[in-house]
Amino acid sequence: MSTRDFIEKDYYAALGVAKDADAATIKKAYRALARDLHPDKNPGNAQAEAKFKEASEAYGVLSDVQKRKEYDDARRLFTGGGFRPGAGGGFPSAGGYGQAGAGQPFDLGDLFGAAGQGAGARGGGLGDLFGGLFGGGGAGAGSTRSRQQAASGPARGQDVETEATLAFDEAVLGVTVPLRMQSPGSCPTCHGSGAKPGTAPHTCPVCNGAGVTSRSQGAFAFSEPCRECRGSGSVVDDPCATCKGSGITDQVRTITVRIPAGVKDGQRIRLAGKGAPGRRGGPAGDLFVVVHVTGSELFGRSGDDLTLDVPISFAEAALGTTLTVPTLDGTVSLKVPPGTSGGRTFRVRGRGVPGKSRTGDLLVTVSIAVPGSLTPEARAAVEALAGQLDDDPRPDVTAAVRAGGGA
Ligand SMILES: [Zn+2]
Ligand SMILES: [Zn+2]
Repeated sequence: MSTRDFIEKDYYAALGVAKDADAATIKKAYRALARDLHPDKNPGNAQAEAKFKEASEAYGVLSDVQKRKEYDDARRLFTGGGFRPGAGGGFPSAGGYGQAGAGQPFDLGDLFGAAGQGAGARGGGLGDLFGGLFGGGGAGAGSTRSRQQAASGPARGQDVETEATLAFDEAVLGVTVPLRMQSPGSCPTCHGSGAKPGTAPHTCPVCNGAGVTSRSQGAFAFSEPCRECRGSGSVVDDPCATCKGSGITDQVRTITVRIPAGVKDGQRIRLAGKGAPGRRGGPAGDLFVVVHVTGSELFGRSGDDLTLDVPISFAEAALGTTLTVPTLDGTVSLKVPPGTSGGRTFRVRGRGVPGKSRTGDLLVTVSIAVPGSLTPEARAAVEALAGQLDDDPRPDVTAAVRAGGGA
């Protein structure tokens, strides 16, 4: 995919859809075309094959939100600036001149230069356009270098991934933590130029600073990042010792981030704009934090619900009681009715894990605690009690035993 492709090819026409067609329409149009034009269905039909390739290429761009936007932007820029594909005999080499319309000289350099200087932080310039088209950083490896000309546009910072270990309650309630991160940033010694202090990079002689070169292949001319300067537009003679000429060094920084409430162990959360800072006013990348949650001695977790096991005495179970139990945030009172069996679970609404739409509940499960030893008095009392309890606590088991066992 080259810039020339973007400017000259009408992908919407190739798929037969309107410029504002939605994703579903584009997909449907492509599927229909792919079915009709597939080489397997049209053996030896060069025209069908060409159209099939055209449709595939168009779909490759229009089905990708980012690529489609770049394509639309590129076409808007060129058609809006008066450049008409084919009218002047092709895409002018960077910094050169094209002919647009009725013999009006069309200076591509002016167009980009003006945009670059006028827009300040927005940058603009050929580098910006090409950087975007080439995937914003991949082929634009050179965009990490400083350029002396206004060829370098803003670049989005890198996405950074890091880890954080949270206590159970921190994960449930959310917490603000400082994170130490190592990520590439502008070299402090050369301020990103890559050149030894006191020296300056010079304009790349191969591409004249544009960072791109044109290559002809058949009827098409492709623009690609300059190999000599790797797209940066400038060449460093005397590299900076700190960054070895790259203009980029790993830098440690500490940032404070808010981990949202309700994260789970192993979860990867995205904090937009908290990644590596952008260059030249570009937006920062995103930060991904993989959270590790240490266990809680008291609480368990089941989705958004917290679980808590609470032993009660036989007397409490039989007579009923009011329990006071801890939550992650304060305590709560819980009425246990008379005649409560072990294993019964009580739900305390809204005292669990704060979720996106609702806050989970606290599930309190009681068990009957039996003393390991009894004083003689207690023993006498329990024996007296046993004489009063003639209800069989296990009627099903008794019935099975009477029937001779089995299910
Ligand atoms: Zn440096
Ligand atoms: Zn170059």
